[in-house]
Amino acid sequence: MSEVSEFLDRQNEEIKKLVVPAQLAYWKATISGKKEDYGEYERGVIKAQKYFSNKDNFEIVKKFLKLTSNEIEKRQLELLYNDYLSCQGDIKLIEEITKKGAEIEQKFNTFRANVNGKELTDNEIKDILKTEKDSNKLKEVWEASKKQGELVEKDLLELIKLRNKLAKSMGFDNYHIMSLELSEQTNGEIEKIFLELENASEKKFTEFKDEMDEVFSKRYGVDKSELKPWHYQDLFFQQAPQIYDFDLDKFYSGDILKIAETFYKNIGLDVTKILERSSLYEIPGKYQHAYCIDMDRSGDVRIMESVKNNEHWMETTLHELGHAVDFSNRDNTMPYLLRLEAHTFVTESIALLFGRNSKNITFMKKYIGIDEKEVERIKDALKQQKKLDELAFLEWSQVMFNFERELYRNPEQDLNKLWWDMVKKYQKINFYRDKPDWASKIHIASYPVYYHNYVLGKILASQLNQLIVKEITGGDIFSPDYSNPKVGDFLKKKIFFHGKRYRWDELIRKYLGEELAPKYFIEEFCE
Ligand SMILES: [Zn+2]
Repeated sequence: MSEVSEFLDRQNEEIKKLVVPAQLAYWKATISGKKEDYGEYERGVIKAQKYFSNKDNFEIVKKFLKLTSNEIEKRQLELLYNDYLSCQGDIKLIEEITKKGAEIEQKFNTFRANVNGKELTDNEIKDILKTEKDSNKLKEVWEASKKQGELVEKDLLELIKLRNKLAKSMGFDNYHIMSLELSEQTNGEIEKIFLELENASEKKFTEFKDEMDEVFSKRYGVDKSELKPWHYQDLFFQQAPQIYDFDLDKFYSGDILKIAETFYKNIGLDVTKILERSSLYEIPGKYQHAYCIDMDRSGDVRIMESVKNNEHWMETTLHELGHAVDFSNRDNTMPYLLRLEAHTFVTESIALLFGRNSKNITFMKKYIGIDEKEVERIKDALKQQKKLDELAFLEWSQVMFNFERELYRNPEQDLNKLWWDMVKKYQKINFYRDKPDWASKIHIASYPVYYHNYVLGKILASQLNQLIVKEITGGDIFSPDYSNPKVGDFLKKKIFFHGKRYRWDELIRKYLGEELAPKYFIEEFCE
């Protein structure tokens, strides 16, 4: 056995021993919401960071990178290089950042908006924003929820400055730039894609926005110029409001978990065991968002949800199970370090590809049995709504991506103004108030410099969709029927199996036959 492979074997073994307990601790903490459980998770993360701060190992990685010609070894060393590099800064500073981040995250996870002495869960707020017609009441709920921004603003700003301090100490301009490079991306390539999308979506989104304003002006009995952020039926207008006349929740009043299970079975991707291991329903104190986690990269994959039988949770469940089938189908002969998604946006694309089905008329016919008359009645509206959904999310992502980049470039600037300027530019909502509303978005604290990955995921999902339709299912690209085991096979062979064996751009080129291309998303949603 060579020196390199011996070193890598040891690394794989040791890193697995660090990561698995931290994953388990995170799972436990997000279920209980208890401070001591979050503390356990935090200690696990800090332990891993200490491990990667080892300077001798970092030198060995650099040396071996030059030495080896074996592709699998080289790939592991490249990944290790980034892991070690990310922890080469002052370990005290890194710990401080982790602690501060965890503190803020816990505040987020346990925050409940308070309206007139009554505590509201996120699910309750979503309901009110969708159904309430009284502008004053909407404003009250919206403002109550935004209080979490004020609650964390001071800590969050400190955290951002600490992150920048770390990045600068390691020779990067700021944390935004550093994060991208450590995840094998560059600001240049992402800005280029975002600009292409901005230009391609502007016209269609403006049309939609006018249509929306028309609807809301009537619904709320206010002039179009008087529409405010709380009128758009979502705390951040990140999800499109429904402006066409159909009620999807009505269709999804049955057991959505059962529907998801059957759907995946028909694609040849069994999720029964995954659901059995998962935490699926609301519990007081529990994390209110959804996620999917791969505990050991050897088959223990779970999802975290607070399921209700409605369209939102249908989409979310299809989404999280998309991650789950990706995580569950790796080439297990690969070393632990490579049994990860090619890139976070690649697994995101799988989740999105499947999540989109909750608004796919073919899916609805097949899995919830809506009748032909209903199909005819809602078909066109549904297609429009889907486009609106995607574009609304795209514009919102533009806000996040561009805001965060500017935030890290200069955290001293007037961030409240910057935030609402971005909202105006991309989401076309003309509003301003001097409050830290930007700080109420959990991603800025807990998933920094991440949002662009949703967009890249969407682009790749559209690219995969067209390939699947062309090569396997036939039908039109807007409402394909994936219920075919060949679809599962296709994804296993092209994506799941390879894990992190190749860099994301290489994987896409090699297995999809061309570069990551926004044109498929544009064709599907911007025209
Ligand atoms: Zn996801």
